[in-house]
Amino acid sequence: MNKVRNFSIIAHIDHGKTTLTDRLLQLTKTLTPAMAKQERVMDSNPIEQERGITIKLAPVRMKYVSTSDGQEYLLHLIDTPGHVDFSYEVSRALTACEGVVLVVDATQGVQAQTLSHYYQAQKLNLAVIPVINKIDYPTADIEKTSLELMELCHVTEDKILAVSAKTGENVPRLLEEIVQKIPPPSGDVGGAPRGLMITSYYHSHQGAIALVRVVDGEFRARQTVRLLGAKSEFVAPEVGYFSPEMVPTEVLKTGEVGYIATGLKDVRKLTVGDTLTTAKVNQDVQPLSGYQPPKPFVFLEIYPVDSADFPNLKEAIYKLVLRDAALTYTPTQSQALGSGFQMGFLGLLHAEVVLERLDREFDLSIIATTPTVEYRVFLKNGQTEIISSPVKLPDPSLIDYIEEPWVEISIYTPPQFFHDCVTLVQKHRGQYKMSQNVAEQTKIVCSLPLAELIVQFHDQLKSATSGFASFEYQIVGYQRAEIVRVDILINKELIEAFSFMCLAEEVEAKGRILTEKLKEHLPRQMFAIAIQACVGGKVIAREDLQAYRKDVTAKLYGGDVTRRKKLLAKQAKGKKRMKQFGKINVDQDLFLKILRQ
Ligand code: GDP
Ligand code: MG
Repeated sequence: MNKVRNFSIIAHIDHGKTTLTDRLLQLTKTLTPAMAKQERVMDSNPIEQERGITIKLAPVRMKYVSTSDGQEYLLHLIDTPGHVDFSYEVSRALTACEGVVLVVDATQGVQAQTLSHYYQAQKLNLAVIPVINKIDYPTADIEKTSLELMELCHVTEDKILAVSAKTGENVPRLLEEIVQKIPPPSGDVGGAPRGLMITSYYHSHQGAIALVRVVDGEFRARQTVRLLGAKSEFVAPEVGYFSPEMVPTEVLKTGEVGYIATGLKDVRKLTVGDTLTTAKVNQDVQPLSGYQPPKPFVFLEIYPVDSADFPNLKEAIYKLVLRDAALTYTPTQSQALGSGFQMGFLGLLHAEVVLERLDREFDLSIIATTPTVEYRVFLKNGQTEIISSPVKLPDPSLIDYIEEPWVEISIYTPPQFFHDCVTLVQKHRGQYKMSQNVAEQTKIVCSLPLAELIVQFHDQLKSATSGFASFEYQIVGYQRAEIVRVDILINKELIEAFSFMCLAEEVEAKGRILTEKLKEHLPRQMFAIAIQACVGGKVIAREDLQAYRKDVTAKLYGGDVTRRKKLLAKQAKGKKRMKQFGKINVDQDLFLKILRQ
């Protein structure tokens, strides 16, 4: 156990975390020659690569022989994601560490996420190794970056390491510092085995896999393992570690990080934060604490465009949930859309990534409803309902009042954008609370309704600050709000998927925007169509879509038979993605256009 070090690299985006990781893997000869040739080993999911975010946590084991004592150490590098939607994953990853490498780009200095990550590490009392990266860069300002880090971490200059992840300069020294400065894990080697489930995922051959930090005792293959929270058990066919591919081993010892294969088909039993043990039921093993399971804040419903696809959608969601512990789902029914699921996400980006996966990895055409938060609805009869789906909102005559969730948000930004940030927050019904300068950055604390945060806040903040600001947030409570449901009727027919909840004062503006959009995107039919937005039966906005007068194909393509056939074939293919509402067909693209406003 004294030869184990568990750590994370934390950094602002683009400061060099991935490059440094690859350099560490290379220096410790962790990669096979084939893998070494491949660039960027750690970002392996194509969607993650494209969006530059890391969602999965891949704890890689490296073997390192210390230059000072000649002993071999096991270094577990636990990756952390960079986006605010996944900040719970960051804290989860950090819970399994004793220290962090805090990387700052010498050409940029301390930035927003440097601060938010540093504060998280500090909260958990982790050892911090401050590192200046990109010193090979002509514009590197090592002195200035060093001063910022000294101020932030309260350290003297000699505690800061300057490296180039690109050329490898000084990276061997970083390995040595990891061994020297990060404490080994502590735990009861001879005690009843306890492991903390960091995350879980689904392996196509091995089934459900638990990623575990062994806290006490040890875990071996072929033992019976119990899940204290889920109250279920399994015989582990295999235990092992990542290098970065899965490597089976005989035993995972106290303080080590690795995987326990479960042989379970149903990975939903592997709840993040659960405690694993091999102790007998009559042994009184205390569950590990201090761990918060992720909680979804943004909800939407998804339905297959073609109802026959429902079993496939179900299958796909089961698989996604296995890989992504933060995703929740409940089956739901809609009159117009049939069987579907209500899904809970950490934020909008999380939702988008999941919808994209359903499309790309599972090739499913789906309709997704407008994202919403969870409202507390207090009824006149004294009951309270938690509502996160517009169609479930009770009749207004039954409602006493409604409360919406509020968050406290910390924005980290260069000081010159202070006013833009505060103005943006105020535009979103938020309140400024306080600010504080740290290094060259300003931290602004505000409170804000969550519903405002999930829509376009992130994009707007980025554009208001030339991309420099970042933020983190947490739910702090609920406040009263005048919330009503707006329904959309197309030819008098309610299209539930377009219903949404919003502030009473915004219904007209929002109703108008949606009806105009529908008019713009809805394909014309052989008859005229009325598009109406209604609140409690009262029309608040209306658009009319005129009918076609002639056969399109005849008009457009005249006598050209082959072109006409091609068009018809294309339409037939398109039909598969169409959903019928009464006499009207609505295709998936329309839903995406309307809902991803
Ligand atoms: P991440 O977002 O923190 O994972 O950052 P990356 O590792 O993806 O690096 C961002 C960019 O900086 C990439 O283009 C890297 O090639 C480059 N980079 C990273 N480290 C260095 C370095 O030490 N020197 C130079 N010149 N470029 C670097
Ligand atoms: Mg990266």
